[in-house]
Amino acid sequence: MGTKIVSVSITRKSRSKKQRALEILVRLKHLYPDATCSLNYSTPVQLLVATILSAQCTDERVNKVTPGLFSRFPDAASLANADLVELENLVRSTGFYRNKAKNIQASCRMIVSEFDSVVPNKMEQLLRLPGVARKTANVVLAHAYGINAGVTVDTHVNRLSQRLGLTEHSDSIRIEKDLMGLLPQADWENWSIRLIYHGRAVCKARSPACEICQLADLCPTSNKPVLIVRQQEP
Ligand code: SF4
Repeated sequence: MGTKIVSVSITRKSRSKKQRALEILVRLKHLYPDATCSLNYSTPVQLLVATILSAQCTDERVNKVTPGLFSRFPDAASLANADLVELENLVRSTGFYRNKAKNIQASCRMIVSEFDSVVPNKMEQLLRLPGVARKTANVVLAHAYGINAGVTVDTHVNRLSQRLGLTEHSDSIRIEKDLMGLLPQADWENWSIRLIYHGRAVCKARSPACEICQLADLCPTSNKPVLIVRQQEP
């Protein structure tokens, strides 16, 4: 029995969104088996703070700032009582530092006064904390408490979900809803983590490397043609 290329065709549209999403999930697990949250932290409060700092900033930069920050202010109580100017200076290099310092302090004050100094583990409670939206809440719930309450949609997940044709939306809340409908709940967070890895390594914002992308045959915006290889009948 021989093998030959009998046609060259785009197959990406022949599969349903859900089928493609599940196949992409399998491949991402294979490509990035050890993917994990890139932020360094020791407690749920530190994860919350690091995630607030990661807005419009790289995780690498946040990880340079947090050792000094957490050695000076290690928990919710110390952050709640910190001198705001000192806090601002400690997080300055992450950008938008005034707003971030203000939100960190206000969140920690609420955690101390309303949640007995423990970061809440419910989405609706987390969303009450100043500066916390669904992206931050999803990260904290998944990595601090092992709860998959939603799909974290950061800038990479937003971009790749659109390029992979898994959503028609550009708004993160709608993208999250679309992804929740396509993926098993148990995989919601590991999907995001791995898609972020792929966005950093291959599907970069300005120059997606479709020619080396292992998802190209599943991606409707790939510029790499797909070969269909069929077995010849004996
Ligand atoms: S094929 Fe290209 S656009 Fe699609 S996910 Fe891969 S790098 Fe991104």
